[in-house]
Amino acid sequence: MAELRREPILQRWVAITGQRWEVLSELLRQRREQRGRTCPFCPGKEHETPSEVFALRNPTSSRNGEGWSVRVVPNKFPVLRIEGEIERIGEGVFDQASAIGAHEIVIETPSHSADWGTMAVGEVAGVLRAYRQRSLDLRGDERFRQIMIARNHGPGVPIAHPHTHVMALPVIPRRIEDEVRGLLDYHGRKERCGYCDIIRQELSSGVRVIRETGMFLALASYAARYPFETWILPKAHAHDFGTLKDDQLPELAGLLQSLSGALHSLLDEPAYSLVVHTSPLHRFTEPRYHWHMEIRVRLALVGGFEWGTGFFVNPLAPEEAARLLRGEVAEAHPAKSGD
Ligand SMILES: [Zn+2]
Ligand SMILES: [Zn+2]
Ligand SMILES: [Zn+2]
Repeated sequence: MAELRREPILQRWVAITGQRWEVLSELLRQRREQRGRTCPFCPGKEHETPSEVFALRNPTSSRNGEGWSVRVVPNKFPVLRIEGEIERIGEGVFDQASAIGAHEIVIETPSHSADWGTMAVGEVAGVLRAYRQRSLDLRGDERFRQIMIARNHGPGVPIAHPHTHVMALPVIPRRIEDEVRGLLDYHGRKERCGYCDIIRQELSSGVRVIRETGMFLALASYAARYPFETWILPKAHAHDFGTLKDDQLPELAGLLQSLSGALHSLLDEPAYSLVVHTSPLHRFTEPRYHWHMEIRVRLALVGGFEWGTGFFVNPLAPEEAARLLRGEVAEAHPAKSGD
């Protein structure tokens, strides 16, 4: 049985799934063998995944059959389990909670080798629609305090087929807690949202702006921890990703598509991760939070330093990253005359 354990000094939650090493090494061996052979996320393999909980599919197709464009299924190897009561146990200095939660996979496209940069904007919008639907659906369960959406792409990801993990957690992850605390502290001093202030300032200086659309801003973070670290924020204050409106989907999709395309044209086989950071849920809801996405590129330039120290070394200035990405994005989306 998996456990959620909290480190008492830094207050980080970790899911300990507690498998035996024999089982893990067998899994690793299977993955090595499977690589490049069969993919459980490709069309025609629907029976190899658990039954779908959501799909965008053509009206004549049937559930768990072919004919879908986006498909969401429970993870076959979930870190968290949906059934059971959440027990919270203290053992001296240590906090523990049962690993109850949901762990789902969004299979983003039928095409095994696609990425957002090569997909149509409408297809990427379908992926965002699935994110939002799962975020809204999973919060119906009052036990969950946070929805996490995370996507990895590129070499090193066990299954290459484009997919995203969606987790509903019974605890609030440290990263979100830190951001909430920082925003509340900022709000306490200035009575304004820190991210709204950043957006205003970055738009007026422009040096770290990658692309601005009517409703969203993509920027290189002032103190970026990683090369090409990119934040995407709604320009109007909104605390919850679930509040994303239908008319925002294609615009955000277009922005993500152009960013992914830019990373692909700048970097050879880019490995990158994307997370959605959004307000905790239910009684932990924080309207002063400002939801956003963070993209991080994994480059083998500086390895392991931050692991032991928490001190990041970034060899690429955010202003330079913004200049490069802005150039690529502008090439894909030439400004209309009069813009
Ligand atoms: Zn595939
Ligand atoms: Zn704000
Ligand atoms: Zn964040």
